[in-house]
Amino acid sequence: MSPLVEVSRHGDVAVATVQNPPVNALSPGVPEGIGESISAAAQDPQVKALVLIGGGRTFIAGADIKELEKAAIAGSQGEPPHSGPDLHALLQQIEDCPKPIVMAIHGAALGGGLEVAMAGHFRVANPDALLGQPEVNLGIIPGAEGTQRLPRLVGLAAAVDMCVSGKPVNAHTALSLGLIDKIIEGDLLEGAVEFARQKAAETGRLPKTRERSVETGGDGVGPILAAGREQARKARRNQTAPLKALEALEAAATLPFEQGWKKEREIMRGCLSSGQARALIHAFFAERAVSKIAGLPKDTLAYDIRKVAIVGAGAMGGGIAMACANSGIPVVLKDEQQSALDRGMAAIVKNYEGSVKRGRFSKATMDQRMALIRPQLSYDGFEDADLILEAVFESMALKKQIFAELGAIARPDCVLATNTSTLDIDSIAEASSRPHMVVGLHFFNPANVMRLVEIVRGAKTEKPVLATAFALAKRLGKVGVVVGNCRGFVGNRMMLPYLREAQLLVEEGATPAQVDQALYDFGMAMGPFAVDDLGGIDVLWRVRQEWKHLEKPGVRQPLVHDKLYRMGRLGQKSGKGWYVYDETRQPKPDPEIEALIETTARQAGIPRRPISGEEIVERCIYTLINEGARILGEGYAQRAADIDVIYLAGYGFPPYLGGPMWHADAVGVKKILDRILDFRNSVGQWWEPAPLLQKLAERGETFAAWDAARS
Ligand code: NAD
Repeated sequence: MSPLVEVSRHGDVAVATVQNPPVNALSPGVPEGIGESISAAAQDPQVKALVLIGGGRTFIAGADIKELEKAAIAGSQGEPPHSGPDLHALLQQIEDCPKPIVMAIHGAALGGGLEVAMAGHFRVANPDALLGQPEVNLGIIPGAEGTQRLPRLVGLAAAVDMCVSGKPVNAHTALSLGLIDKIIEGDLLEGAVEFARQKAAETGRLPKTRERSVETGGDGVGPILAAGREQARKARRNQTAPLKALEALEAAATLPFEQGWKKEREIMRGCLSSGQARALIHAFFAERAVSKIAGLPKDTLAYDIRKVAIVGAGAMGGGIAMACANSGIPVVLKDEQQSALDRGMAAIVKNYEGSVKRGRFSKATMDQRMALIRPQLSYDGFEDADLILEAVFESMALKKQIFAELGAIARPDCVLATNTSTLDIDSIAEASSRPHMVVGLHFFNPANVMRLVEIVRGAKTEKPVLATAFALAKRLGKVGVVVGNCRGFVGNRMMLPYLREAQLLVEEGATPAQVDQALYDFGMAMGPFAVDDLGGIDVLWRVRQEWKHLEKPGVRQPLVHDKLYRMGRLGQKSGKGWYVYDETRQPKPDPEIEALIETTARQAGIPRRPISGEEIVERCIYTLINEGARILGEGYAQRAADIDVIYLAGYGFPPYLGGPMWHADAVGVKKILDRILDFRNSVGQWWEPAPLLQKLAERGETFAAWDAARS
């Protein structure tokens, strides 16, 4: 018997419990163990039925993603096509078992877990269980007959929605869809055993999901699939997996089961050997790897955070206060002026009211959250805060003053954090006279929504402080990536040359709309000019002024941006920037700007020419990658994969390309180096390859291998 599945007896019902913590993934040994438990139950005359349940906190929460990764690597290296772990024999064994098999679901039945559950004759679940087919998140389809059994249980339209969105449904929805047979309110195991006993006492054939037909309702197959394609186009732009899932679902609706699952397997093979699956699986593991922090042992004790205090109730301070309240952490929110505090609180109320209106949570939840945020003008209550976060204006003098004040009032073991995006953490830390307690917590706007937090490690940040910052990010439901203290840290340092290159391209002949479209088509959530207008032309202008002295001589500086700033075209907030905006906030090209760009370029003697979409993408994305390589080589990011996580979670880089450094490997580091050298000749001397990029290209190595050699 496999040690991963325990079998016990509850009277005449056998219970097989999967014991593969933490999430009971279908690792090697689990399917075998389930199979053995079924054979034993089928042969034992004392046993009338079998219940399959998960040990610990969940049912089977999915496939073993390491196994999927192995199959994806094999596929992409041209090895014989692989469809991942093969569950066909097990699923058939479950369905053909002559005694009722009841799947007892708590926690999550996701991916392969739901596929196993759907082969059972019956499914019961706890009220808070979740069931879903999230495979599209990894660039694949449900490949263990999920696309065939799910529509047979819930109908084609609901199956399309679940497979394309990847979102799970709760037990109540699952019951109304027919995905489960009963909700068990009390003890799940007891209820499932009782349910199994009843079913064993009934006569008649056991229901087999594969023998059911697919309900298509009044709409018919075509319109349902068309709606699915539209859903995929909107929610998963440029991604192949949802479209492939639709093909497999179509097979379920139009072919007998035996042909359908074979078709699904063939489609799954194609997905697994696709670059998108490799990239998305990389992104999955990259996000888990951020917790391995150099020089920070896993068992480093973090300070307990029971109360947070925030200085500055502006856009960021307010957003961070909401993020804390949303996670149940009480917050004191201080500003200097009553009017600023009122504005900040009004923004929080408006945001929460919007969520209540959209049905995201109840008014009672809103009230609970509001009650956790205490607005005030004084430092009252700061003396017993566990973490104080500063989010005042971006001014070194002001931040030093605040940190000096905090150093005088905070408890000695209080973590002091700054949300600065551009300033030197060490200078701020010194002002507190306890620099070992200081860390950067660089949230992104809107802070209650954006998942990324760059955790900036100062020269003297002590280990428990870093561990606390990391634990807090996690508690707020965010992904914290530890970075070094350089100008702009990782994300914004890379963004600057990217935005500059976009501007140089328009001076050379492209239009802002053309540049934005090319990068949007590449997969970025927004083009660089739309980003600049959203962030505020004045914000980038200020950063550029501050960093001007750091630019190497010979770097061509963009010219139009300064003019926009002087014209007061500050972006969305002033209704005009690179584009013009009406109340829909949709950017509209402005002929006035195009004329301004042309005149500016002519006056500066910059030759204008037609510029292709390919050149736009290469110049913007390769400059981003080059700066990433420089940061990595200088040690300000620990792993190339960390840079990927930063760009995926915070900058709208397309997930199916795995992040800029993963994408560099996919394109070929040598090819990127060659293009950079071409650009140095044709565009300008500022195109200088990062030493690490050059080294990897010369050795024929990848960023992924560079990471692996250091893990
Ligand atoms: P903001 O102008 O919206 O808010 C700053 C707030 O600080 C104002 O309400 C102001 O009244 C208050 N303040 C100023 N001096 C104060 C003092 N002495 N005591 C208490 N409050 C004081 O600015 P923001 O956009 O929230 O930015 C805050 C910080 O976050 C800056 O360091 C900025 O660089 C950083 N940041 C901003 C963004 C962004 O997109 N806005 C993103 C990441 C980081």
